[in-house]
Amino acid sequence: MFSYRHAFHAGNHADVLKHITLIATLRHLMQKEASLTLIDSHAGAGLYRLDGDYTETGGEAKDGVLKLFAALRPAEREPTAAAAAIEDYMDLVASFNPSGALRVYPGSPFVMQRLMRAESRDKLKLFELHPTDSRTLTAHVGQIEAGRQIAVALQDGFEGMKAFLPPPPTAGSSRRAAVLIDPSYEVKTDYGRVSACLQEQLGRFPTGTYLVWYPVIPRPEAHDLPRRLKTLATQAKRPWLKATLAIGQDPTHGPDDRPGLTASGMFIINPPHTLHAALHAALPQLLSLLGRGRGQAQALETGG
Ligand code: SAM
Repeated sequence: MFSYRHAFHAGNHADVLKHITLIATLRHLMQKEASLTLIDSHAGAGLYRLDGDYTETGGEAKDGVLKLFAALRPAEREPTAAAAAIEDYMDLVASFNPSGALRVYPGSPFVMQRLMRAESRDKLKLFELHPTDSRTLTAHVGQIEAGRQIAVALQDGFEGMKAFLPPPPTAGSSRRAAVLIDPSYEVKTDYGRVSACLQEQLGRFPTGTYLVWYPVIPRPEAHDLPRRLKTLATQAKRPWLKATLAIGQDPTHGPDDRPGLTASGMFIINPPHTLHAALHAALPQLLSLLGRGRGQAQALETGG
């Protein structure tokens, strides 16, 4: 069984990039009346304690969401305005922390749940393969009494999503879905499975919005993945957008310390036309707020 537990990493710089991109994408898609099917193929536990054992051990939120809040919304002085996509993200995270102190971090299932429209118009399908995280996720979802709007499956997300794509047609007969594919890449085969999954889904449902998170690490499979996704999108004649954020080496780390993840990317196929501008404004600010040492960079690229 996998040893990866997202709780160690919740709220880190990669989550910040991923969740800002996810929110900016869904905000646009939700502007249309028609209902939307949302799929989270690798959902995690859903909610994380920022003051819990796991996050204390990893402490990765300190270089992510906690650093953002400390810089932009410090308790002792007036907040500083940031790009709309960053503000939107911070508002959403703050809404899980009504007391003001940041204790809870919403993972992608709850980011999506917060943005869904009521009246059962939108549906959310969550897949999580780790039995403990799946149980925790089911319990968290149970507490919000979402009824049939949200379904949790203890199932392989790459396989499980096939049952929901293409989604059922909406009243105006368009089919709309957004799919987040966010593996831990703990097993090398995840890289190949992501591109095989995208290839298959672009064949079955080419107009869906697909958001893939990937680590930027010195490993050939990781290096190849965004290139392969670009090729798949281009072959399918679909527009794409790629955003990367590298916060650089931790200057307090010694030569023998494990460097940890310093950079990651989001690759979106069929991005909303507003996403480029949203990230163009947000990424340089994220870098100046979260950047910490050698190797800092951000980049935004589009095609199709
Ligand atoms: N998407 C979550 C978020 O943004 O809050 C974080 C997900 S975490 C990076 C990846 C999760 O995928 C882990 O909880 C892991 O147990 C789970 N997982 C690994 N392989 C899976 C698979 N084939 N299908 C579904 N879940 C899987």
